[in-house]
Amino acid sequence: MTTLIALDIGGTQMRAARFAPGEYPPQEIRKVPTQNPESSPEETLFQLVESLWPADGKVAAIAAALPGPVDLQQGLLLTAPNIPQWRDYPLPQRLEARFGVPAAMDNDANLAALGEWRFGAGRGHHYLLYLTVSTGIGGGVILNDRILHGARGLAGELGHITVVPNGPRCGCGQRGHLEAVASGTAIARQARAALESGTPSKLSLHPPPTARQISEAAAQGDTLARELLAQAGYYIGVALADYLHVFNPTCLIIGGGVSRSGDLLLDPLRAALREHVMSPEYLKNVTATTATLGDNAGLMGALALAEQTAFERPATR
Ligand SMILES: [Zn+2]
Repeated sequence: MTTLIALDIGGTQMRAARFAPGEYPPQEIRKVPTQNPESSPEETLFQLVESLWPADGKVAAIAAALPGPVDLQQGLLLTAPNIPQWRDYPLPQRLEARFGVPAAMDNDANLAALGEWRFGAGRGHHYLLYLTVSTGIGGGVILNDRILHGARGLAGELGHITVVPNGPRCGCGQRGHLEAVASGTAIARQARAALESGTPSKLSLHPPPTARQISEAAAQGDTLARELLAQAGYYIGVALADYLHVFNPTCLIIGGGVSRSGDLLLDPLRAALREHVMSPEYLKNVTATTATLGDNAGLMGALALAEQTAFERPATR
């Protein structure tokens, strides 16, 4: 097996890393802004990949984590926030044409799940769920060591299950989804409303607190901040109890900025799980824990996908 290249492409920056066979951290990692006036995002990406191509020229596979939905049957990135040039864009095909090696892609939440499964908090588990709780709530499902994609690659949207019918508006436009009551955005909105109604707290209303400031205040013992995190943890636990019944996983991983609050989020989450499962059998040997790869989850998931791609489609050269 030869070198692998993993890509983590976001709306603001692209990162690329070169890995020696079976080794990490990477031999080399580089990042560039996704948009620049000199070249198209595709040309920017090609130059980035070229810049860390190994001296011996041997790369077994390239895989990319992408910030939007992908159609894996047609090999298309459907849309990507802040990259309007990439609508229905055949990224793997373009990479294969340019570099002559097998290429693969998936959305960043699925690959974060795969990264945690292969290199992070989910190692050794065959059935796991990953939720990233930040501005929104994304998710990924690993069943029998494979990402669950569904018929069109749209499965695993764990943040968009209804937990409060007709509840607050979600980032997707629907009402009462988990994301609308438990994301960082939702927690910040709830904090503002509580402060406006006069709830005592060391949080300031001018300007309104961010989710990060709420986490910090909670760590310092602020009652309102703790209640808001506990409520978010409760709703995530309610949703996860449903997921336990559907997927019967052994590992639940919470990532994203809000997960940095650790047990202030996870203890209420675990309590809600116990309250809502139909039988304690679902909780036997189940670990609920925070992610360990942080901002590298997508990149490490792309590495895991590159490994699988190299194994399934060995280069013929
Ligand atoms: Zn939604």
